[in-house]
Amino acid sequence: MKLFVILAVLALVGFALWQKWRRLPPQTKQLLGAIFGMAGAYRQAKKQGAGSSAGQSRKTVASGLMLPCAQCGLHVLEQDGVRASGEFYCCAEHAR
Ligand SMILES: [Zn+2]
Repeated sequence: MKLFVILAVLALVGFALWQKWRRLPPQTKQLLGAIFGMAGAYRQAKKQGAGSSAGQSRKTVASGLMLPCAQCGLHVLEQDGVRASGEFYCCAEHAR
């Protein structure tokens, strides 16, 4: 008997939600769909990011800070570049 009551309540709630959903304008449905889609994509990306955190790409970034050259815009590791008058350059040639 208890199970039947729970099922009846669930059916009523489900029906009410369905009725509400039917009355929503299509724009709202699209918006909700987009939100759920983004949330799913975000969760997927987070999961993948956590899985590959021990990978090769993180290590190369962790080995040094990448900075853009003030002359040509090339990104070079901080220890490989040249600092001159407050700017960072990829090589001594560009620092002149
Ligand atoms: Zn340069």
